[in-house]
Amino acid sequence: MAEVSRRDMLGAAAAGGVVATATGTETFGQGQPPFGPTPAPLAGSELPSFRFQLGAVAPKRWDGGWAKEATVAEFPVSQALAGVLMSLAPGGLRELHWHANAAEWAYVIKGQCRVTTINPQGQSQIVDFNAGDVWYFPRGFGHSIQGIGSEDCLFVLVFDNGYFSEFGTFSISDWIGHTPPEVLAKYFGVPVATFANFPKREVYIAKGPVPPPLPANPAPGSLDNGPLSHRYRLLAHRPDVYPGGTNRLVSQHQFPISTTVTGALMQIKPGALREPHWHPNANEWQYYISGRARMTVFGSHGRVRTEEFNAGDVGYVPQGYGHYIENIGNEDVELLIALNNGTYESISLADWIGANSHLLLATNFEVPENTFKDFQTRNRFLVG
Ligand code: MN
Ligand code: MN
Repeated sequence: MAEVSRRDMLGAAAAGGVVATATGTETFGQGQPPFGPTPAPLAGSELPSFRFQLGAVAPKRWDGGWAKEATVAEFPVSQALAGVLMSLAPGGLRELHWHANAAEWAYVIKGQCRVTTINPQGQSQIVDFNAGDVWYFPRGFGHSIQGIGSEDCLFVLVFDNGYFSEFGTFSISDWIGHTPPEVLAKYFGVPVATFANFPKREVYIAKGPVPPPLPANPAPGSLDNGPLSHRYRLLAHRPDVYPGGTNRLVSQHQFPISTTVTGALMQIKPGALREPHWHPNANEWQYYISGRARMTVFGSHGRVRTEEFNAGDVGYVPQGYGHYIENIGNEDVELLIALNNGTYESISLADWIGANSHLLLATNFEVPENTFKDFQTRNRFLVG
């Protein structure tokens, strides 16, 4: 501590990072910006809407597919995460691109696609995704996605920056199209005329033939994948089972490349309750795949807001805000969740109550001690 001045510590804290303390080394910030003033949408006397009807948005269409998005421009409370729903026809290609301002996490809802990636070591992975699979591309990694198989491939993309937008997406056709052919000819060692028919605008989604299957047994010396896979088979994973439903969680612990996003696929039975809880270290972005749900968010100062969610809706819970979800329909609620931290943290109301003495609780709530003797505080999570 002696070598580290207070100014150094404050500087490091503002940047997010690691400081030496009396008890050792602590990491903090987790890559997230430091806390500042409450974002404007959360600073009023009433809470804003935590629901956005992404399903109802008209998509942008190309021959090879379509896309629609929910960023802070459409969904003001969604400061830390943005989402896109995208569909690619067989052969439809989301072109080679990278994102300057966000990592990309995705869940494939239906169909199949092939993903190519490149990392800063020049290592590449080409791998197929099926329904139920998750991908993660660290910020800035180059990638492409192509629909394969016989049906359209539908997937949800989540970006760990609410201000993510197309202006942070850098496409290969856009760059090549705005580079002088003379420079390209010299660089690639081909005649200038080679580039005469290259597009002069961003292609975004192209349409081509469905590529052949990947080799089951790659040729010797043909792969340089890098140490970490971009694919995690979330649906194939054995779920955690509760009386009220099931949950599959994928954090950096299970999926090491996913350092800034934890995901979950949750199934909530009719009448069941995802217990009241909050996330100390992350904002929560939700996509409702099926069913009818009701979420209530607690935002301090007596502010509580309850809204209903249907298939195609996006939900959002700011970091540290209390929330619970009820299935109010006759079928399962299927819910995709992305949290903007690779480490999963949550604290539930039942765990908190259960961790305190009845005497303290009686004092806190100004009721008799025996009020709490029958409270169920174990293994709540999804209460049936
Ligand atoms: Mn992308
Ligand atoms: Mn939650």
